[in-house]
Amino acid sequence: MLKKDFKIFDKDYVYLDSAASAQKPQVVLDRLVHFYQNDYANVHRGSCHLALQATEQYENARHIVADFIHADFNEIVFTKGATEAINLVAASYAKTLKKGDEVLVCVAEHHANFVPWQQACVQSGATFKTFDVMDNGTWDLNDFKKQLSKHTKLVAVAQISNVLGVQNPVEKVVQLAHEVGAKVMVDAAQSVTHLPINVKDLNCDYLAFSGHKIYGPNGIGVLYGKGEVLTELKPYQFGGDMVDKVTIEKTTFADVPARFEAGTPPIANAIGLAEALQYVSQIGWDKIQKNEQKVFAALVSGLKQIDEIEFLGDPDLKTGLVAFNVKGIHADDLNLILAKENVCVRVGHHCAMPIHERFGVKSSLRVSLGLYNDQEDIKVFIQALHKAIGFFK
Ligand code: PLP
Repeated sequence: MLKKDFKIFDKDYVYLDSAASAQKPQVVLDRLVHFYQNDYANVHRGSCHLALQATEQYENARHIVADFIHADFNEIVFTKGATEAINLVAASYAKTLKKGDEVLVCVAEHHANFVPWQQACVQSGATFKTFDVMDNGTWDLNDFKKQLSKHTKLVAVAQISNVLGVQNPVEKVVQLAHEVGAKVMVDAAQSVTHLPINVKDLNCDYLAFSGHKIYGPNGIGVLYGKGEVLTELKPYQFGGDMVDKVTIEKTTFADVPARFEAGTPPIANAIGLAEALQYVSQIGWDKIQKNEQKVFAALVSGLKQIDEIEFLGDPDLKTGLVAFNVKGIHADDLNLILAKENVCVRVGHHCAMPIHERFGVKSSLRVSLGLYNDQEDIKVFIQALHKAIGFFK
């Protein structure tokens, strides 16, 4: 529907790998070029016109991000991606967790929301625990309740897993976690492109996402931290711009969010991200979701007609992405043929080995949608998949 906004689609690509990274609309590219050509300077430092202008635009980008997820301005920290946002929080927990404390994550987490917590536990002596999913790909809430305890200090979960694609009941888990005094990190790297996010409704303590998956530039991400909860975190990196006062004896730190943005931040990328979020808002979630549901239904219906397909979870419960294998054919082999047909999908473990192990497979083929995909993309993909299966049968 919106391919015309994306120059890359002047060429004949069928791009079905937006869960890995989304394409960039021209308005975002134009915004970056305009900023570098007209307004560029470092932020929070100089007092010349350019420096003030760049600072204003960078901070305005923070306002736009905050509005997009219904947060307050000073609850938004710019990072280089979701991975860095989660590492920032996990590094702080690594310093405060102690033996006997527990961290609980879902087995379906992307490594970005799994390994940092595992390492925080290794470093602190705390216990790293996981809870399971059901065979249909939804959370096993009974297992969650079983694993949650008064020792749990943090729960880390994705709102939508990058393999299972199910919209998870985050609010419920937040409520249960808060009842035992645990904080909750929500990984919104996938969900941010498929549904409106309201951190106040979720009532989560932290939330992370990357700009490049929501049509923004690479190298920019967002950490949301709820008011005082963010203030309690220890600084992640040290250097310029994150300090209040530095003497030979000691350093005091700036208020949040500056305390977590040491060094020159990704200025243009933050401004580009804000442009991408405005682009999404202007189209509107209603239109984006209606199109996505139609295209996704066509995708699932085409896949269901292929007997050899084994889905990871129930395809009817998914939003915007589906992972599967074809019995007897390695996903890498299928991908060779798909790539020849100019169809871009993702094959492998998608940085989520534990959930593949949970389903008894090493890898899968994942198809994921962006707001630019249409029924024609699905038609070409399904035809190419039939061709690939035919080739290896
Ligand atoms: N979380 C999920 C669910 C993801 O899908 C990804 C990336 O694929 C990440 C976290 C990490 O994002 P990034 O690599 O942009 O930091």
